[in-house]
Amino acid sequence: MNTKLENDLYQLDFILDKAKEQSIAYLKNISNRSTSKGVKVEIANQLVENGLGTLDALQYFNEKFEEIIVSASGPRYWGYVVGGSTPASIVGDWLTTIYDQCPFVIEGHSDTSAQIELETIHLLLDLFNLPNDFMGGFVSGATVSNFTSLAVARQWLGKQYDKDFAKDGISETIKIFAATPHSSVVKSLAMLGIGSNNFTRIKVAEGNRESIDMEDLEQHIQQLNGQPFILIASGGTVNTVDFDDFKAIAALKKKYNFWWHIDAAFGAFAACSDEHKHLVDGWEFADSITIDCHKWLNVPYDSAVFFVKEKYKYLQVDTFQNSNAPYLGNPLENFNYTNLLPENSRRLRALPVWFSLMAYGKKGYKDIVSNSIAMANHFGEFIENSNDFTLLAPVRLNTVCFTLQNQADNATSVFLKKLNDTGKVFMTPTVYNGSKGIRASFVNWRTALEDLELVKKLMIELIEH
Ligand SMILES: *Cc1c(COP(=O)(O)O)cnc(C)c1O
Repeated sequence: MNTKLENDLYQLDFILDKAKEQSIAYLKNISNRSTSKGVKVEIANQLVENGLGTLDALQYFNEKFEEIIVSASGPRYWGYVVGGSTPASIVGDWLTTIYDQCPFVIEGHSDTSAQIELETIHLLLDLFNLPNDFMGGFVSGATVSNFTSLAVARQWLGKQYDKDFAKDGISETIKIFAATPHSSVVKSLAMLGIGSNNFTRIKVAEGNRESIDMEDLEQHIQQLNGQPFILIASGGTVNTVDFDDFKAIAALKKKYNFWWHIDAAFGAFAACSDEHKHLVDGWEFADSITIDCHKWLNVPYDSAVFFVKEKYKYLQVDTFQNSNAPYLGNPLENFNYTNLLPENSRRLRALPVWFSLMAYGKKGYKDIVSNSIAMANHFGEFIENSNDFTLLAPVRLNTVCFTLQNQADNATSVFLKKLNDTGKVFMTPTVYNGSKGIRASFVNWRTALEDLELVKKLMIELIEH
C-alpha cells in the first residue's frame, strides 16, 4: 500500500476527529461568518508529487480556502434560493459518503440503497400530499429534474405520432407552451434537442402576475387543432413566486391531449403550509413534477427529485434505458434506476433526505416552511412601510422582490453592492417588469427575527449614507 494511504488508514480516527472538530467550529459560527468575500485565489496547476497526506492537505486547504468560504448555508444568505443543511441531513450526507453505495436495483443484489431511495420518494410524496401513482428518483438539482421530466415528455409526444424519438431522433414539431419558465427549463429544451427558442410564450395573467393567462393558453391550444403538446407550468416563479392555476389546467387535461409538467423547485413546499397549500391544488393531475431538495428541504447541495406518473414508466425506460447491458436485466421487469434517469452511477442522494424527513417529520417541515413565510412577510412589511424601498410584487410565499424608490443613476445596483459588501447579508439582483430589482428569498431553517432586525437596521443605515 502507498505509504501516505497507509499512514492515513492508521490514524483514521484522528483524521475524522479533526474533520469533525472543524465542522463543528464552522457550524457554530455560521451566523457570524461573512456572506461574501471578493477574494480571488491563485489557481494551482501543478500537483504535488508524493501527496501531503490528509492532515497536511487539510492544513493547506485551511490556509488557502477556508477563510474565504462564505456562509452560504447560514441564516442571512437570501440570494437565489439557497437552503441550509439540517443536522440530520448532515448525518445522512456524511453516511452517504461512508457507505458509498450506488442505488441501482431493488432486487437481485445485496445492496439496499435503491430501496432507501424508493422509500424516500414515497415519504416525499406523503410530505407533499401527492398520490402514490407517481414514481420518482433523485437527481443532482432541479435543472436535471426538469431535463429528466421533459425528456419523458418528449418521448410521450413522439408516441402520439407512433414515433420513438429516443431511438430515431425528433421527427415531428414539438409544441411547447409556458408563461414564465425558469431559465433551467429553457436550458433543458436546448439540451433535449427541442431548441431553447422553440417554445411559445403564453401571456401572463393580468394584474402584476407571472402566471399563465388561461384564456390565451386555450386560444393557443385551439390553434393546434388537436395536435399534442407539452405544457410547462410554474409552481412558484423565481421573482415573485407566482403559481399557475393548476385546477384550471387540470380541467384542460380532460379536453385536450398534452403532457403537463410542473416546475415546483421550491414552490412545492406551499403544500406544507395550511394557509398556502391551495396554491398547489390540482397538481396531482400533472404528468411530471420537479422539486428541489437542496432548497426548502434544507439538505446539502446535489439533491432534487423528479416525479413522473408511474403509468409512463415505459416511456421513461424508452428514454433512459442503458441498453446493451444484458447483466442489468430486462428494464421493464426489473426495477433499475439506471433505466429510469440520466445517470448510471450515482451517490445515494436519498440518504440525507431520508434522515431529515425521519428526524423532523411533517411537523418539522411545516415549521420550517411557516417560519420562512413569516420571515418573508415581515421583511415585505418593512419594505412596504419604508419611504426608501418599494415592493415590485406582493409577497406571495417566501420571496420579497423589491427596489429602491429612488431609481436615479443605477441606485438599486449601487445599493445592492454596498449591502452585499457588508458581508452581513446576501441578496441577488433581478429585473422584473423592466425595473431593476432585488430579491430576498427565505428558505433557510435557521433564519430568525434577529436576522431580520440586523438586516433592516443595516439597510436603513446604508440608504441614509
Ligand atoms: C432553482 C430552480 C431551478 C434550478 O434548480 P437547480 O437546483 O439550480 O438545478 C429550476 N426551477 C426553479 C423554479 C428554481 O427555483
